[in-house]
Amino acid sequence: VWITLEGGDGVGKTTQAALLEAWLGSKGRTVVRTREPGGSEVGTLIREIVLHHRGDVAPRAEALLYAADRAHHVATVVRPALERGDVVLQDRYLDSSVAYQGAGRVLDPAEVRSLSLWATENALPDITVLLDLDPVAARERLDAADKPFDRLEAEKADFHARVRHAFLSLAEAEPERFLVVDASRDPADISREIQQRMTALL
Ligand code: C5P
Ligand code: MG
Repeated sequence: VWITLEGGDGVGKTTQAALLEAWLGSKGRTVVRTREPGGSEVGTLIREIVLHHRGDVAPRAEALLYAADRAHHVATVVRPALERGDVVLQDRYLDSSVAYQGAGRVLDPAEVRSLSLWATENALPDITVLLDLDPVAARERLDAADKPFDRLEAEKADFHARVRHAFLSLAEAEPERFLVVDASRDPADISREIQQRMTALL
């Protein structure tokens, strides 16, 4: 079973991943908790470029770097884990690329999606949890946590509003894959909602 967590910065993906990991462990499942970008050794190097390079990376180069990270991650981490029968619990996947690059209005979201599908030989998760939260509230959470901003997290407020709407339209287009949850609620309540949906898959 392959679960991905999606949503803007500060919506609580890490918190939900930790709660789900504990719950799955209590059910006796082996969990591989991972993320993109940076879920492999190669990916860690790529993450360093896309998030910490000072100065611009050309949009198509950036899209290819995310896709390269994804290709390597799926081939060397995700597929082997799924073949072993483990549960893969993943922070961000292709929907992040489509939402962020679509919201950036530079690249065509459909092309970004095709690129990812090519990179992964059409690998799609069993369930994608979209943690939906007003970006102003999300930013307040990040500030309260005194969390340093990555390059993209420092983008303007309207950018984050576009990212949110891009995620919501992706969820609307694929209702059977997505579970959209209101991320302003108590983390334990959110986790219970996700667990209910996952019970059917396990
Ligand atoms: O949430 P995480 O720390 O993994 O993401 C780092 C940054 O990379 C986020 O600010 C997110 O906006 C950006 N990102 C992106 N496209 C992706 C994945 C992450 O723009 N495919
Ligand atoms: Mg982040």
